[in-house]
Amino acid sequence: MTRHIVQFSGGLGSFGAAISVAEKHGTSNMTLLIADTGIEDPDLWRFADDTSRLLGVPLTKVADGRTPWELFRDKRFLGNDRITPCTVWLKQKPCRKWMKVNAPVGDSIVYIGIEKTTRDRARIPAIARNWRPWRVQFPLCNRWMPELSKEESKAQLMDLSRWYGIEPPRLYALGYEHNNCGGTCVRAGQKQWKLTLDKLPERFAEAERQEASLRELLGDVTILRERRQGVAYSLPLSRLRRRHEAAVAFTAAAQETS
Ligand code: SF4
Repeated sequence: MTRHIVQFSGGLGSFGAAISVAEKHGTSNMTLLIADTGIEDPDLWRFADDTSRLLGVPLTKVADGRTPWELFRDKRFLGNDRITPCTVWLKQKPCRKWMKVNAPVGDSIVYIGIEKTTRDRARIPAIARNWRPWRVQFPLCNRWMPELSKEESKAQLMDLSRWYGIEPPRLYALGYEHNNCGGTCVRAGQKQWKLTLDKLPERFAEAERQEASLRELLGDVTILRERRQGVAYSLPLSRLRRRHEAAVAFTAAAQETS
């Protein structure tokens, strides 16, 4: 009997994939495989538990045991918007380790909740390569589905979640595109970090503290970069925060005088 292994990240895309697999194959041979990075938003686990209850499939949790920050220290490398060893060590490796023991290659299919948006679809070949030798399917990207903008896709998946009686993860309502690592994903760009500063300032402060500590250890490393006149410069979170706070204060002062 084929095993259906949904790589369940706790985000809406993987929720949509799980629903699609359940509708097509039932849930008796389904696994919801989820990697715990240790810094997820608590509401991710509420959403994951709700999904598990809905489908009658227990969560299969795997973990490296380190947080991304602990990993960066061990590897002496700060993950950033270009290179993310945390994905490899905290997500892919623990999941593959579980798969090697529990998911025979010839009799298992891996499902990934990539959404049918231009940007996400471009990642399909690399993701399929990463999961070799297992077969990989992308249930939200079948050829009958129309291509969507990120906003349309998010709105559809939020509707789907609510239709099944499950409130979507709160990070989406706060404006995030993903429910990853509690809003402090190192792969996210400046826009998301500013959102974290506005909406989850205590998480931003912790990330800023961790980055500063890694900079003391490793030198001029940063999560973000900025380009000026074609040259890339390091952009520490502390500098981004000061700039953002100044911009907010300037806007508030301008509104008061107008
Ligand atoms: S979500 Fe971001 S920070 Fe978390 S493991 Fe993946 S790349 Fe790293």
